[in-house]
Amino acid sequence: MPLYSAEALVLRTYKLGEADRIVVFLTRDRGKKRGVAKGARRSRSRFAAALEPLSRVHLAYFEREQRELVSLNYAELLRSPFRAVDPEALAYVSYFAELIDEWAPDAHADERLFRLGAAVVEALEQPVPVDRVARYFEYWLLRLQGVYPGVTVCPRCLAGLADRGAWLVRAEHALLCDRCTASPEPPDLSPGALAFLRAAAGLPPERLGEAPLAVRASRELEAVHRSLIALHLEREPRSGRVLREMGGVGDGRPAGG
Ligand SMILES: [Zn+2]
Repeated sequence: MPLYSAEALVLRTYKLGEADRIVVFLTRDRGKKRGVAKGARRSRSRFAAALEPLSRVHLAYFEREQRELVSLNYAELLRSPFRAVDPEALAYVSYFAELIDEWAPDAHADERLFRLGAAVVEALEQPVPVDRVARYFEYWLLRLQGVYPGVTVCPRCLAGLADRGAWLVRAEHALLCDRCTASPEPPDLSPGALAFLRAAAGLPPERLGEAPLAVRASRELEAVHRSLIALHLEREPRSGRVLREMGGVGDGRPAGG
């Protein structure tokens, strides 16, 4: 029974029996795994505080052929999202972890997804507004899956979108210009929201303080991202709904027609 050691992000845990936990984690090099942490719910467990969502850990596990569940041997905490500067950031931790869990294929290495999750945890320790980190995370998550529509030109007429804004047309999975949509509504993404995406394409998340984002533009991005995520998951993530119900985040209206 081989022993592996890996760097990983904890995505979620759930109870197993009296004292154990099942841990879902994303390794840097071997994809997503599920494992049993024996005794993890005992107060003096060797897993102690290392199993909170989005904790970055070094862990060792035994893996048996033909067995889906690995057996965790130890977990050492490298970085905790609970060091976040802004207490509001903690509300986002489960949301980020849930989306990574939804998108990470089982046992299929995706180092870029691992790096995105790790970079976001680090950004939460910086004095960067958490909504910018959240919009950045959603943008890159969708981009890494190849499902973020183009934001530079209208795919129908090739007009530039930067000055006029863009309208999300869900049926075409595209962001179109004012002329092609002929919509009487204001754009789903205003020029300010599009400018943030251009900045986010070239900045690491800890430098998002340099990318201005007005409250209104942040809400536009949030609504468009929610639509795109729901389109691909075919439902809304549970923790996204919780965030919204906590208040102040979005208006519950999905973007796009
Ligand atoms: Zn157009």
